[in-house]
Amino acid sequence: MDFSMSQEQNMFKRETIDFIRNNLNLEEFYEKYSPEMWQKVAEFGLLGITIGEEYGGLNESYLTAAIIFEAFGYACKNNGFTFVINNHIWVSQNLIYLYGARFLKDKYLKLMVSGERIGAIAITEVEAGSDALSMHARAEKDDQGYVLNGNKMFISNGPIADIFIVFAVTEHSQPKKITAFVVEREFKGVKIGKEIGKMGLNACPTSEVIFNNCYIPKENVLGQYNQGELLLTYALEWERFYEFVPHIGVMQRIMEQCSEHVRTRKQFGIIIGDNQSLSHKIAEMKVAIEMSKQMMYKIAWLKDCGKTAFTETSIFKLYVSENYIKTCRDALQIFGAYGYTKEYDIERELRDALACSIYSGTNEMQKNTIYKMLSFI
Ligand SMILES: Cc1cc2nc3c(=O)[nH]c(=O)nc-3n(C[C@H](O)[C@H](O)[C@H](O)COP(=O)(O)OP(=O)(O)OC[C@H]3O[C@@H](n4cnc5c(N)ncnc54)[C@H](O)[C@@H]3O)c2cc1C
Repeated sequence: MDFSMSQEQNMFKRETIDFIRNNLNLEEFYEKYSPEMWQKVAEFGLLGITIGEEYGGLNESYLTAAIIFEAFGYACKNNGFTFVINNHIWVSQNLIYLYGARFLKDKYLKLMVSGERIGAIAITEVEAGSDALSMHARAEKDDQGYVLNGNKMFISNGPIADIFIVFAVTEHSQPKKITAFVVEREFKGVKIGKEIGKMGLNACPTSEVIFNNCYIPKENVLGQYNQGELLLTYALEWERFYEFVPHIGVMQRIMEQCSEHVRTRKQFGIIIGDNQSLSHKIAEMKVAIEMSKQMMYKIAWLKDCGKTAFTETSIFKLYVSENYIKTCRDALQIFGAYGYTKEYDIERELRDALACSIYSGTNEMQKNTIYKMLSFI
């Protein structure tokens, strides 16, 4: 297996890092969404990284996309903004591109790739979190389309999104049948709830989204009618990969910050890095980054071969998130009281990181999945 990067990949990576450092690390937007930054990313071309050229995309491989989004996490100190971009690309636009009918692709993709429309995904409900399939939102069929009723909770990009991939029950059988729909914010009966205050990732606004007799034309079914459960599985596979790839880059950035700190900060007349208890923390960060990257390359390869990576993405999500949180927690300890202050950013990194053991399916649920999948290996 060849692990070397091509010249083009190296160049694209360097250009991405330069672009991000020059445009996206504005402190005033670390805790609030910036439409100007969104526009800049769209103009740089990243939104359509794996989308075909006919829709304005770059048609890059999944491996190249992984390399670029790892670099994105490394260069971009605004983790909330990275989350906005990834929600748009991988669990909204990408689903239309891969599983949508021609009509949906023609209607939405160019606008999403150019950044004129922002995407989001709406699965979770107040009473249906980990047990997403117990959802209550329902879409009743008539001659022309569907009438959607229900409330979706914790929707990332909710307050800024124009296009929602919404999952709802379409047959009340046992088990229930679910269908995915492409719903525009402008459809009658769509209401965006108030922004939900969060501990971190604040550059990514979150809200409830309410559907009250919302009429959806029949052409806006995504994938097959009553086959939403399968589509949900695909969606989560993409999410558990590409939303966690940037975290590897973040770990690298934090590790470098920590290495620099332990080499310059002196206590008891020696640099604090001379204490094994601290240098080992940094060694553990390095091990986690390397192990995460190996898994990243494997999953990107599976995706480029058109193969499923259901168990692999669960393992990846679990491993990366646990180590991302540990890295931030250890960084706080390494920086001492300075890490606890607003000045050093480490406290924000930790607040941002903590959510990743919850979104995309909690880590407990990943362990359930991994254990269950053992019987298929
Ligand atoms: C920052 C953030 C962004 C999000 N963005 C979106 C979004 O864009 N779209 C969307 O639809 N949703 C989104 N979510 C919601 C997310 O998917 C849910 O929070 C998640 O699936 C867990 O559901 P819950 O919060 O209701 O927790 P619960 O399901 O109530 O779980 C509570 C606890 O119980 C544990 N638990 C539950 N069942 C089991 C079990 N069978 N075995 C072991 N442990 C179990 C869980 O692991 C967890 O620790 C987001 C959440 C966060 C934090």
